[in-house]
Amino acid sequence: MTEVAGSQEPGRDLPLDSHLHTDLSPDSDVPIDVYAALAVERGIAELAITDHVDFDARDPAYDYATFEDRERSAREAAERWAPRGVLIRFGAELTFNRSWESELRAHLARHRYDFTIGSVHDWPDSPYVPWRVQTWSTGRPLAEALGPYIAEITAAAGSGLFDTIGHLDVVRRYLDGTFSAPEIFGAVELFEPALRALVDSGTALEVNSSGYRHPAREAYPGPPLVARYRELGGRAVTAGSDAHRTAHFAWALEAGYRVLAEAGFTTLTFRRGGDRSAVELPARLRVPGAVGGVA
Ligand SMILES: [Zn+2]
Ligand SMILES: [Zn+2]
Repeated sequence: MTEVAGSQEPGRDLPLDSHLHTDLSPDSDVPIDVYAALAVERGIAELAITDHVDFDARDPAYDYATFEDRERSAREAAERWAPRGVLIRFGAELTFNRSWESELRAHLARHRYDFTIGSVHDWPDSPYVPWRVQTWSTGRPLAEALGPYIAEITAAAGSGLFDTIGHLDVVRRYLDGTFSAPEIFGAVELFEPALRALVDSGTALEVNSSGYRHPAREAYPGPPLVARYRELGGRAVTAGSDAHRTAHFAWALEAGYRVLAEAGFTTLTFRRGGDRSAVELPARLRVPGAVGGVA
C-alpha cells in the first residue's frame, strides 16, 4: 500500500490520541518516549499505547512482546512523563477473529489493560491477504466481497470484549484494487449490522485517522458511517491516529475529531482502567446544537 505524501494538519491541543504503536509492535519503530515528547510539544494531553496482540501464530505480533514487557514500558513511561503534563495509558489493539475468540477472551480475563481496541485485520485464512485479495474479489459483487470481513467485525462489535472497535471499515483498504472508494463509501447499509452490534453492546466506535494517509484520504470509518452510527443510537466514540512511525503521531487526528464533531458528538469515551469517562472535544470543534455522549 502506498502512503500519500504531503502533510495533514497536525493535532494541536487535542486531549487524547488513543491508538498508537511503539517498537513493541512488529510494524513500528517508535520508542515510547518519542511519542511522549511529541505530545508535550503539541499539547496533546493523553495517549493510549495500543501495541498489537495477535492470537494466530502466523500473525506478526504473535509472541512478539510479552504482556509484562508491554505493561512495564507503558507504566514506566507514564511515570517519567506525568510530571511534564502527558498522561500515558496502557492499552492494546487485539486482533479479533471468531476462530480465536476464546483465547482472546481468556487473555483479557488474565490481563488488565486500561483501554482495549478490538480490530479485524487480514487474518491468514482470509480472502484479504495481499497475494489473494485481487483474484478473489475480482468479479464479485461488493456485498459478497465485504461479507467475510463484515461477519468478523460484527462479531467483534457484539462480543462486549473491547472498549472500542478499531478502523471499522479498514476492509476498504484491502479491496482498493478492486472497488473504488466511492463504491465502498456508498455501502453504509452493508456495515449496518456492525454498527447495530456496537450500539447494542455499548462498545465505542473509533474514528481512525490513519485513513487520511492512504489514497482514499478519508478516516476509517468516514462521515457516512459515523453519522449512521449516531442515528442508530450510538453515543460512545474514540479517535486515534494509529501511528506506527514518528511522522504519523497524531497525524490528521484533528480531522478525525472533526468527523465526530460534525456527526454531533461532543465527547470521546475513554477508559483508564476503571469505569469509562468522558473526554470533551475542544470547544472550538463543537458543532452548534450537538449534545453530549456517554461516559
Ligand atoms: Zn489495526
Ligand atoms: Zn493499530
